[in-house]
Amino acid sequence: MPADLHIHTTFSDGTNTPEEIVKLAKKAGLTTIAITDHDGVDGILPAQKNGSEIGVEVIAGIELTTETTDTEIHILGYFIDRQNPKLLSATTKIREDRCKRVFKICEKLKKLGIDLDPKKVLSISGEGAPGRPHVARAMLDAGYIKDFKEAFRGYIEFNGPAYVSHYKLSAKEAIDLIRDAGGVAVYGHPAVSNCDDVIPDLVAAGLAGIEAYYSTHRPAQTEHYLKLAEKYGLLVTGGSDYHGERVGKESRLGVIQLPDELIDKLKAGENGQ
Ligand code: AMP
Ligand code: ZN
Ligand code: FE
Ligand code: FE
Repeated sequence: MPADLHIHTTFSDGTNTPEEIVKLAKKAGLTTIAITDHDGVDGILPAQKNGSEIGVEVIAGIELTTETTDTEIHILGYFIDRQNPKLLSATTKIREDRCKRVFKICEKLKKLGIDLDPKKVLSISGEGAPGRPHVARAMLDAGYIKDFKEAFRGYIEFNGPAYVSHYKLSAKEAIDLIRDAGGVAVYGHPAVSNCDDVIPDLVAAGLAGIEAYYSTHRPAQTEHYLKLAEKYGLLVTGGSDYHGERVGKESRLGVIQLPDELIDKLKAGENGQ
């Protein structure tokens, strides 16, 4: 049962609907996936409905963005109750602030000579929580840049000239929220954050796993995080972080395929929390 446990849909900044994701997963030979939209749960149910029809197990997941002064820490949650009231109230608040943030980013971009209508950006994100990739898409559509990389590198990357933060949880709050919703909390793409010194605190806060297998992790980085998982008694997960085609992050759905053994351990972790 090969599994890919990190996938975005149109309910955040992915470009495929949950229904399309499930079909693509089946085509890629995956039998288990997790939908892990940024700060939202609305893609889970449609993926699960379609998954049960065509034989793809869909784990209810989420990716919560948290921030230190130096970097972002993404906390993944698996087997969450998507109807948990605390989780829903937090994600609603984050989503509202993500909308306000689009206006603030557009103001900063205007001072840099880029004139975007924030409403255009919000029409691109549609039903999904708006994020920087939607801003990049609007910049691309208006001809200001030639690819997503240019938008991030020159303007909206973390602490870049048009970067604006949004209301975020602390990593501890994110872990608490996931656990309160019955989920297993996992440190997402740790080599991307490159901030190993937070791990002991995260473990003390209830972190249960680490995403050692990730599309952009080099083999030596994967090995490093497998060792840290052993050291701290963490579950090992992995995923592609697929966002769709031509969105700057070139990651193929199913590029990471976790074996049964790791999924079974994650499921046991769910019950043992
Ligand atoms: P946000 O959650 O709105 O702050 O946007 C973060 C998302 O932007 C990430 O999850 C990626 O999908 C995307 N992203 C971040 N950095 C880059 C980059 N350098 N190139 C393309 N996409 C990126
Ligand atoms: Zn994203
Ligand atoms: Fe992430
Ligand atoms: Fe992600």
